[in-house]
Amino acid sequence: THFGYRTVPLDDKQRMVDEVFHSVARRYDLMNDLMSLGLHRAWKDLLVSRLRPPRGARPFHLLDVAGGTGDVSFRTVEAGGPTTRATVADINGGMLAVGRERAASLGLADRVEFVEANAEELPFPDKSFDAATVAFGIRNVPRMDKALSEMRRVLKPGGTCFVLEFSRVDVPVLDAIYDAYSFKLIPGMGKLVTGDADSYQYLVESIRKFPPPEVFAEMMRTAGLRRVAWTPLTGGVVALHSGVRI
Ligand code: SAM
Repeated sequence: THFGYRTVPLDDKQRMVDEVFHSVARRYDLMNDLMSLGLHRAWKDLLVSRLRPPRGARPFHLLDVAGGTGDVSFRTVEAGGPTTRATVADINGGMLAVGRERAASLGLADRVEFVEANAEELPFPDKSFDAATVAFGIRNVPRMDKALSEMRRVLKPGGTCFVLEFSRVDVPVLDAIYDAYSFKLIPGMGKLVTGDADSYQYLVESIRKFPPPEVFAEMMRTAGLRRVAWTPLTGGVVALHSGVRI
C-alpha cells in the first residue's frame, strides 16, 4: 500500500510515485476523464488560455514539466500558431511512451517532444523557455521547492510559470460532496478500471497533503518568482497558480 508514504524518505516517495504512474500509464487518460468527470479538460483549457500561445509567426516554446502523456502540450500547440512548440519533461518512461504515440496519431510529433527528466534537475540551459507549466504534477515531486526553482531557472526573463494543482474546496456542501467523492469513489473506480486501488488511494492522499494556496504561493516567491497569484477553479477543487521570472 502507498499509505505509509508520509513518513518515508523522499527518494522512496519518488519510487512509489514512479510505480503508481507506471502501472496506470496505459489507462491514465481514460481515468482522468472518469475521475474528474471530464473537468480536467476545462481546467487545462483555462491554463492554455492564460498561456496565450501566439497565433502569428513569433516563436513560442513551452516547457511542460511532469507533462505525462502530453495533454497540456498538445492543447498549447493546437491553440498556437505553427511556430509554437512544446517540450514534455517527465520522469516516467511509461507515461512518455503513451504521449509519443498520441503525438504521432495527432500529427504533432514534430512540434511536441518528450524528454525523460526529473523536475528537480531539469536538463535544460538557463533562460531557454517562453513559459513553463506543471499540471497535476508538482504534488508528486518530493522536493517541490527544487522543481519551482528549476522552472524559474529555465524560463526566459518575463516568462511565466503556471502550476495547476488540486487545492482546497472552500464552499460549504461542495466540500462534503468532494470528500465523499474522493475518499470513497475514486479508489473504487481506480480498482475497477486499472485493478489497482492503491494507486488511486495514493492520489487522493497526495491531494490532501498539498499545501493551501497561500502557502504554495509563498513557495513560489521563495523560488524567486514574482507577481505570484492564484485563481481558485470549481469552488477550489483546483487552483491555477502563476508567477513570473523577472
Ligand atoms: N501533466 C499531466 C496531465 O495533466 O495530464 C500528467 C499529470 S500526472 C497526475 C503526474 C505526472 O508527474 C506523472 O506523469 C509522473 O510521472 C510525473 N512525475 C512525478 N514525479 C516527477 C518528477 N520528479 N519529475 C518529473 N515528473 C514527475
